[in-house]
Amino acid sequence: MAELSLQHIDKIYDNKVQAVFDFNLDVKDGELIVLVGPSGCGKSTTLRMVAGLEDISNGHLLLDGKEITQTPAKDRDMAMVFQSYALYGHMTIYENMAFSLTLRKENPNVIHKKVLAAAEILGLTSQLNKKPAQLSGGQRQRVAMGRAIVRNPKVFLFDEPLSNLDAKLRGATRREILLLHKRLQATMLYVTHDQTEALTLADRIVCMSMGHVQQVGTPLELYDSPNNVFVASFIGLPPMNFYDVKVVGDQLQGNGFKVTLTPEDKMTLAGYEGKEITLGVRPENFIEGEGIKVSVTNNENLGMNTLVYGTGEGGVKVTAKLKGWKNFKVGDTVSFDIVRKHFFDKETTNAIRGDK
Ligand code: ADP
Repeated sequence: MAELSLQHIDKIYDNKVQAVFDFNLDVKDGELIVLVGPSGCGKSTTLRMVAGLEDISNGHLLLDGKEITQTPAKDRDMAMVFQSYALYGHMTIYENMAFSLTLRKENPNVIHKKVLAAAEILGLTSQLNKKPAQLSGGQRQRVAMGRAIVRNPKVFLFDEPLSNLDAKLRGATRREILLLHKRLQATMLYVTHDQTEALTLADRIVCMSMGHVQQVGTPLELYDSPNNVFVASFIGLPPMNFYDVKVVGDQLQGNGFKVTLTPEDKMTLAGYEGKEITLGVRPENFIEGEGIKVSVTNNENLGMNTLVYGTGEGGVKVTAKLKGWKNFKVGDTVSFDIVRKHFFDKETTNAIRGDK
């Protein structure tokens, strides 16, 4: 069992910089939580507070219901995997993986069994006598994970573990981490600035901006019903398109374009008649149609899809992800309809969800 509870946690550094504001989260046993957000939003600080590598300024941290806010890092029963791997260059892979257990003076036979078992899980059995320098980046990252596994910790903490790997290896290692999570059924907290990693790995995502939690939810919840403009723009690639529009009867009126509202849209927007709102449209929610007319500025073929960039008469910009292989030329005129709209309050930037 390993349930974590972060309650009203703040971090104020000695230089008075507040990096984390009132962070609340209950992590269930065996859950993989991904903290995601742009650089400097407080993800690592939060992870380091959980690990015990930073003091918690205010609030409480509980592991299985027991307060560990003041517990030293070494007594928290957590293992952290860093992006830098932090392997000892002069030691073999075996010695690197055994290191923490050797320090704890565990029985050498037990150590041997644990290292071999972890190596087996990670496909490192044939590498155990090598030095880190003889391994690829991906293999080194696996050794770093192996070092965590042999300790059999209650909680695994990952700090951007894939950011030193190239794109192809990142994808492969990501899948390995998922398999590892399934196999170990361990509670994991994983920090990344990469929204793709968050979407593909997480049971639940915590999206942060400037020290504040913006939304906690499953990947689909954050993708499909983002709480605010920040989450909407951060999750999803290419990012959502945003437009300033005015609600007028059955229409949204933008700069040089109009969008017709469905009866359901109208219900959602009850109370916003005559007001300005922000309309959000994901690139994949544009289809070729008769609505917003733009002049193509770029056509990028991705294989299954084509990214089409265009600018309309009023200067409106569209990034659309169309199905199939398209061959628009610069200057071609294309019209788009919208199959799914997101609405945001202009002042608060919060999602408008109607009375639902
Ligand atoms: P992230 O992991 O999301 O990139 P961090 O948690 O590293 O963000 O940093 C959050 C904020 O705290 C940033 O403004 C950063 O400059 C600040 N910060 C991080 N570490 C320290 C420190 N040791 N002393 C003072 N400020 C810090």
